[in-house]
Amino acid sequence: MPSAFGHAVAAIALTKASPRVRFGARVAAIAALSAIIPDVDVVSFSLGIPYEHMLGHRGLTHSFAFAAAWSAMMLLLFQRGERTMWLWLCLFASTASHPLLDMCTTGGLGCALFAPFSSERFFFPWRPISVSPVEIHSFFTQWGLRVLKSEALWIGLPSALVFATAHLLKRRPTRD
Ligand SMILES: [Zn+2]
Repeated sequence: MPSAFGHAVAAIALTKASPRVRFGARVAAIAALSAIIPDVDVVSFSLGIPYEHMLGHRGLTHSFAFAAAWSAMMLLLFQRGERTMWLWLCLFASTASHPLLDMCTTGGLGCALFAPFSSERFFFPWRPISVSPVEIHSFFTQWGLRVLKSEALWIGLPSALVFATAHLLKRRPTRD
């Protein structure tokens, strides 16, 4: 995985990328949580579930089906007002960004994007992001530094571009 920081930054940028709706801080916070939540499956290691199992790390919680169900659940819990479809889409994109970014990392197994229908694991052919350690203590080492550097380049920079573009568009006067 990229680190939780990388996932959260990407999701917050996604909330700013919506062409139709401007989402505020509350949605950004839910999107960030949605982008981190798939990694709750690391508990599978302590439960003795093998990595390659559908319930193992990067299994079911790293699928499109999970992203769809999780986003629907968040809507039910936090939905206020209209634009429900856009909010669902935004949260779905934030949650699904997690496995898609994991598929750009250099280590571990791929993601079971189509679980629970298939347990096949997928990676992108191009994987520029250094894989983040699962254990917290390993993060505060050279390894963690390498991860943050690669995330700054491959997640931070594109996200900053999205933020800047959204900011510029917001300043442009609209006619309607
Ligand atoms: Zn992950």
